[in-house]
Amino acid sequence: KANRLLHPNNTEIKVNNEIIGGNKINIIAGPCSVENQKQILSIADDVKKYGAKFLRGGAFKPRTSPYSFQGLKLEGLELLKLAKQYTGLPIVTELTSLDFLDEYVDSVDIIQVGARNMQNYEMLKQLGKINKPILLKRGPSSTVEELLMSAEYILLGGNENVILCERGIRTFESYTRNTLDLSAIPVIKKLSHLPVIVDPSHATGRWWMVEPMALASIAAGADGLIIEVHNDPENALCDGNQSIKPDKLKQLMEKLKLIAKAV
Ligand code: PEP
Ligand code: MN
Repeated sequence: KANRLLHPNNTEIKVNNEIIGGNKINIIAGPCSVENQKQILSIADDVKKYGAKFLRGGAFKPRTSPYSFQGLKLEGLELLKLAKQYTGLPIVTELTSLDFLDEYVDSVDIIQVGARNMQNYEMLKQLGKINKPILLKRGPSSTVEELLMSAEYILLGGNENVILCERGIRTFESYTRNTLDLSAIPVIKKLSHLPVIVDPSHATGRWWMVEPMALASIAAGADGLIIEVHNDPENALCDGNQSIKPDKLKQLMEKLKLIAKAV
């Protein structure tokens, strides 16, 4: 069902008042992790001011090291809800365990499946039974075909609201955190009808590469971007190196408008 041949028209996913996969580019922005009330409210305010339509923020963080900050967990979710109340921005956050599915269904607008869980089939099957939009990230060592098969697990259960995300893959290049597979965008568009967005933050691991890769992604046909933004990246508890400051987001949004108009 993810197959373009069975479904020639692009899937448009309605989230609150926004449409993902339509003719507008959508920007999801916010910190890697929710750290405290002041941080999330201030960033939410800024990203809204500069034109982001969704707020991202990790509450449960899947960290490589068990000694790294693991997120504020349910307290983080409460803070995201507060930020939504203040700004009206729908919230996007990662689900790392089905134990919290009910809480997420109640309060999250787009449930993110992280790269590490792309092939967590039991999770995907459960997400197929709900009606919430799912942001499915490509695993760092997964092919586009495997990503589409994972999407299929969700679609097969009856949930047709799947957004795919290219977030960089593992290659021999080590200068960047991952290698952004820009070619995945036209491939996904050819094979599937689902919307695709790009995460230039995790793809590069470097804040100063976020803008050029974001522009390239939109030029290549992506339906939107998910970008890490932090008010104090030097002291961020997670992914500060790849987080842009709000004023940089403002600049990026201006340039994006030009590219979006051109393609
Ligand atoms: C994230 O979005 O914060 C994240 C952990 O991304 P990924 O699953 O792509 O590594
Ligand atoms: Mn991150």
